[in-house]
Amino acid sequence: MDSEQRLVVVSNRLPVTIRRSGEEWRVQASSGGLVTAMDPILRRNDGIWIGWPGDPSGGGDPSRQEAIDRAAGGRRFIVVDLPERVVELFYEGYSNQAIWPVFHYFPAFFSYDPEAWRAYIEANRMFHDVVVENARAGDLIWVHDYQLMLLPAMLRQSLPDARIGFFLHIPFPSSEVFRLLPGREDLLQGLLGADLIAFHTHAHLQHFRSALLRVGGVESRMNAVESAGRTIRLEALPIGIAPEEFRGMLEGNAQTRHFLSEYEERFRGRRIIVSVDRLDYTKGIPLRLRTFRRLLERNADLRGRVTLIQVAVPSREKAPFYAQLRRQVNELVGEINGEYAAPDWTPVVHLNRGISRAQLVALYAVADIGWVNPLRDGMNLVAKEYVASNRGGGVLVLSELTGAAEEMGEALLVNPFDEERTAEAIERALDMPVEERRDRMEALRRRVERNNAFAWSERFIELVGEAAAERARRVEELPGQASPEAIAASYRAARERVLCFSYEGTLAPAGASRRQSAPPPGLEKTIARLAADPANLVALISVRGRADLEQWFGGIPGLWMAAEHGALIRPGGALEWRAAHPNLSTEWKAPVMSVLEQFADRAPGSVIDEREYSVAWHYRLSDPQFGDWLAGELAGFLERMLSETQVSAVRGHKCVEIRPLWIQKAQFVEQLLEERPGADFRFALGSDRADEDVFGRMGPRAWTVRVGRAPSSARFWTPSPDDAVELLRRMAGSG
Ligand code: UDP
Repeated sequence: MDSEQRLVVVSNRLPVTIRRSGEEWRVQASSGGLVTAMDPILRRNDGIWIGWPGDPSGGGDPSRQEAIDRAAGGRRFIVVDLPERVVELFYEGYSNQAIWPVFHYFPAFFSYDPEAWRAYIEANRMFHDVVVENARAGDLIWVHDYQLMLLPAMLRQSLPDARIGFFLHIPFPSSEVFRLLPGREDLLQGLLGADLIAFHTHAHLQHFRSALLRVGGVESRMNAVESAGRTIRLEALPIGIAPEEFRGMLEGNAQTRHFLSEYEERFRGRRIIVSVDRLDYTKGIPLRLRTFRRLLERNADLRGRVTLIQVAVPSREKAPFYAQLRRQVNELVGEINGEYAAPDWTPVVHLNRGISRAQLVALYAVADIGWVNPLRDGMNLVAKEYVASNRGGGVLVLSELTGAAEEMGEALLVNPFDEERTAEAIERALDMPVEERRDRMEALRRRVERNNAFAWSERFIELVGEAAAERARRVEELPGQASPEAIAASYRAARERVLCFSYEGTLAPAGASRRQSAPPPGLEKTIARLAADPANLVALISVRGRADLEQWFGGIPGLWMAAEHGALIRPGGALEWRAAHPNLSTEWKAPVMSVLEQFADRAPGSVIDEREYSVAWHYRLSDPQFGDWLAGELAGFLERMLSETQVSAVRGHKCVEIRPLWIQKAQFVEQLLEERPGADFRFALGSDRADEDVFGRMGPRAWTVRVGRAPSSARFWTPSPDDAVELLRRMAGSG
């Protein structure tokens, strides 16, 4: 990243906690993976960090910012003041009682309160306001984690050109679990405001893509998704640690060395298993304790010889389930120790508190086994810290349900729910020959060294830069946004006009059924006003059959209509429909229909739309992946079946259409232009692939408008069918 470009880090928490103590402000710096990863890059890029300082009461006191600035030591921390009510509902509520359990596959722990969801939106809005207030052109904004999933889209609205990246630090769950969450569509849309959305693992990324498809109806590629004319890059980017910090302490920190020799002395002749977790239900602490008990039960020889040191750092103590977990852990520790302890041996040493870094590193270094057992974890840094601090003789036993497992295949991977086999893995680790331990640990160590925190943040920033540059390039190629004023002014100034609208997806939302694609209220009147002007030739062209068009718009005098993509035409002023082509064989339909019926039976939710000269199979409501696959099969089958005919099977958006080759929208447009060769205002509205031909035929100076922002031969775009109808209303009102 070049040093001109400033980094703006946004996370729920600032890397400091600030509390008032009498007249003074006490600032306490936090440590942890994120701070370590961000720090050098923040200093290098003159960056700022925006977040909540952990104190709901401090707003408005200038001395607080001074205290924070002193603690920031050269970095700039900017506070988002969240009122206490918002913190409770947004952070403790929606973030930690809805998103957290659902994303970690604990739906039974999920609770939802609509007010908490509103507070989540409100809090994201507050972060948005502070970012916008402090942002400069050219900034790269890095939004972190599940508390701020709406923020990227909010920022995109206010800062359309900003470079925005989002990183999710927790797992992204399977779409079947994700769909439980009220607010799910908004969360997906919120993320799509970013240029880059990154996860720890490919599995998380794939789940996100599947949620986009199955919950949001948005298709994506392996590493990108298109939304509103932008390409959003998707990446798996596992966070790392700063390994030299751990190595350095082991080599040169007096306190660490002191603890190390103390532990070596105290545990001499015993094997040590170390586990370090926040006291969180996702970490699998009770399951680990039960597995350890099983180990002692079935291996009498291990009694007196193995000690499990469990560090459980208190966490989220106000939230439900956490107090219960604490009791459960205390009880289990009590039971195991009560049953197996000897005067000179405690099976489980349980520290229910945070410990110093020096003590932590010494524990890692002395441990024969690092046992990382979460039931679900985005990454798990403890696994990497254990490897970085180990002196070569240890074994990592790692839950395969952590993000870390994806990178750490040389660990003994376990399913923590399978106590039996996890106990076997611990036995295997205790018995593992020294060479094997060395080899495995060495391979792990090399990877932890290489994929470190700095490489991670550098790569993230590089990727956001690339994705944003690509977006900027794409934007230049896209149509411009249609200006209703400019179009209406040109309309007014013209003497003679041709107006041609496509219907489904353009003036009405696309739908497989008739009811879904019925015209929005007022549309008929608007079109009638336009058609009533003798200077206008107004035409509607639809994929629908003539009966639908007749019913919806048949009463408008002077309107030209084309049904079934132009197979049937009703010229303006005429009452009769006529076929656009003399050679109208429909013999192909019966065999095609019987094929379609078989396919429709296989895809629940799919429907067949039979018309006079064409047929379509729609699968919008079917399983999206199965539907796409079946559509490919169907199109291939029909292609072979119809190879000797003038009929073809064409895949459209969530449909397969079978129609004679001679049916072309563009021919109809040609006819309209011939009717009014002197038209000095040409206007076309469309939304799908077939409309691209229409735009082309209208000529380079026509007002061609695509509904939905995407690459197109149209000169302009407008966001939705509602906006398209509004455009027509503008013209009708200004004639
Ligand atoms: N840790 C800590 N204090 C302690 C014990 C551990 O700050 O007393 C740190 C540990 O070094 C690690 C982090 O807490 O960096 C835990 O990160 P992890 O990814 O394993 O789990 P998370 O808590 O983020 O779910």
